[in-house]
Amino acid sequence: MTPASGLGLDTPAMQRRMVERLRLDGVHCEPVLQAMLAVPRHHFVDSALAAQAYEDTSLPIGLGQTISKPSVVARMMEWLFLGANARRQGHLGKVMEIGTGCGYQAALLAQVARQVTSIERLQPLHELARRQLARQSAMHIQLLYGDGMLGHPPRAPYDSIVSAAGGEDVPPTWLAQLAVGGRLVAPARSPDGRGQVLVVIDRTDQGFHRTVGEMVQFVPLKSGVC
Ligand code: SAH
Repeated sequence: MTPASGLGLDTPAMQRRMVERLRLDGVHCEPVLQAMLAVPRHHFVDSALAAQAYEDTSLPIGLGQTISKPSVVARMMEWLFLGANARRQGHLGKVMEIGTGCGYQAALLAQVARQVTSIERLQPLHELARRQLARQSAMHIQLLYGDGMLGHPPRAPYDSIVSAAGGEDVPPTWLAQLAVGGRLVAPARSPDGRGQVLVVIDRTDQGFHRTVGEMVQFVPLKSGVC
């Protein structure tokens, strides 16, 4: 994958327009919008796709995986900002992301969190994200190659957990690694079994509180590494 260069694209203007569209479409969380202004999405896709990088669409990143749609990434981060710890702290605190992919959301999270741990099960994508994020000089992102279904206990508990891949349900390991006052946002099979929905889970002193959000389409959550 090569960076977009010399393509004659006014990428800063395209990026500003993308963020304005998100704002008009109802994304109101200012830190999320600012992060999306700060991280150039075209750096995370192949140069052949750079012209589409600021459209609201998912794009292929290799190995059958995709970079998520900007509106869905923004929405998930907005949900995370409504967690109790995030509201109290004004940032996402300690974050775990499952499904690094090309590293775009990890770079966004790093703008609004104290610490980001991001896990990817496909080694070539893990390596790709490592190269992309080295350019972003994102020092407080830890990229791990492994099975994200297991989470990453050494850095738990997390204030915010977000998954970019959807399984039958949210693995219990993630719930165990969620801090009290923390919030998890992940795609999972819809209650009627016909598709995927965003599931939002808050952990309180009393236990877990689950809300089901909008329909989504994420790549499958798979166990093991490749
Ligand atoms: N966060 C990315 C989205 C990547 S797509 C973005 O910014 O756009 C989702 C990724 O989840 C894929 O790369 C896929 O390989 C990965 N994935 C699926 N199951 C996983 C698992 N159990 N552990 C870690 N990564 C997983």
